[in-house]
Amino acid sequence: MESDKDPLPAGWGKDVSPWKDVAQSDWSDWQWQLRNLVRTPERLGQLLDLPPEEVAVVKSLQREFRWGITPYYFSLIDRSDPLDPIRRLIVPSSNEDPNEGLDDPLSEKDDQVAPGLTHRYPDRVLFVVTSFCTSYCRFCIRKRNWKHSDAAGSRAELDLALDYIRAHEEVRDVLVSGGDPLTLPLEQLDYILGELKKIEHVEFVRIGSREPVMLPMRITDDLLRVLDRHGPIWLNTHFNHPRELTPEAAKATERLARLGIPLGNQTVLLRGINDDVDTLKALFQGLLRMRVRPYYMYQADPVVGAFHLRTSVWKGLEIMEALRGHTTGLAVPTYVVDAPGGGGKIPMMPNYFVSASPGRLVLRNFEGAMFSYPDGGTPAASLDLPAHSVADLAAGRGRRLVPEGNKHFARRTETSEPHVIRANGKR
Ligand SMILES: *Cc1c(COP(=O)(O)O)cnc(C)c1O
Ligand code: SF4
Repeated sequence: MESDKDPLPAGWGKDVSPWKDVAQSDWSDWQWQLRNLVRTPERLGQLLDLPPEEVAVVKSLQREFRWGITPYYFSLIDRSDPLDPIRRLIVPSSNEDPNEGLDDPLSEKDDQVAPGLTHRYPDRVLFVVTSFCTSYCRFCIRKRNWKHSDAAGSRAELDLALDYIRAHEEVRDVLVSGGDPLTLPLEQLDYILGELKKIEHVEFVRIGSREPVMLPMRITDDLLRVLDRHGPIWLNTHFNHPRELTPEAAKATERLARLGIPLGNQTVLLRGINDDVDTLKALFQGLLRMRVRPYYMYQADPVVGAFHLRTSVWKGLEIMEALRGHTTGLAVPTYVVDAPGGGGKIPMMPNYFVSASPGRLVLRNFEGAMFSYPDGGTPAASLDLPAHSVADLAAGRGRRLVPEGNKHFARRTETSEPHVIRANGKR
């Protein structure tokens, strides 16, 4: 996998793409990118050499599922590989079954209190201000907005939502999302952020945007000026694969970070795209180099048309187990399942808590060794006593137990303690 410093293989991107002859000044102009969106089935078929049947399916499915791809993002696809992860993230296909899955897997509509506004958690709200994106992810959980938008689109709808926030002093932070709020005309974004800033009890605003991924050239001076007027702003973006960590994306995140906007990232765990440790470790470590802190990793929700991209929760747990302790905690997001029926985000973790007795816990570390942990007010156990079982640890007989055959912990302690577990328990 991509563990190199340079996240892209040499010769990738624009240089080998159908846009290789486009002037760099056009390429780095976000408006040029939008004027040249890939968004007809015929063009897609031509670019990817699709068989006519597949083009026909895309044509009939597009009534159901919106799609569109910026040339910049399209150029990250390895066109010689039909299973290319970037392709699976963004290119519509006959795998999308409109009859399987939920329209609103997080039941956001059930907690909707005003146009575009979902108030589920006690002190914060989700504010969906547009249903537009510059490219459309195949796993999107708000596909319902592609047909009948419940975003606060008009000024009147925005004002209703803002009135709700003004009237609810418990709302400490507002998550401005979409769609992609950074696709809005700047005057509208300025208005929304400006009105939120005027509300005294709103302590900060968070923006959820994929522009650093799909259209990093959108992070212009004009946009930064608007954001800078209304801070403190946090921005959560949405990288899913290390191949998205391009020099252009790094420039966008750097510019945001230099403005004092803390950056977080939300990744969705997706089958055949990023559901292995090497890929996600490269992604999370690469994000840190770009000053972006991995925040959440989402289990793929049972949303309509994306069942082919779902993994098992056990796969997510396996990945979390392989990250925690093996690389910096900064590179380890919280893995969450958002429960259908309005349960909200539920954190999922491998179990490090093995057993307990009064005053004592038995904990497991990332290497699989177990430790007797004296709870507050309890004396520590003695390393001189042998622990032969979890029950020993729970009773405070011995401080740790390295199961036989576990080489990980034993390797680290080899020099100071040649035999971690000896029959007599002596070091
Ligand atoms: C995710 C989410 C939030 C924000 O939750 P945090 O844990 O603070 O990031 C707020 N409202 C809704 C409805 C959400 O789904
Ligand atoms: S950017 Fe977000 S809202 Fe837009 S299609 Fe992708 S997941 Fe959906």
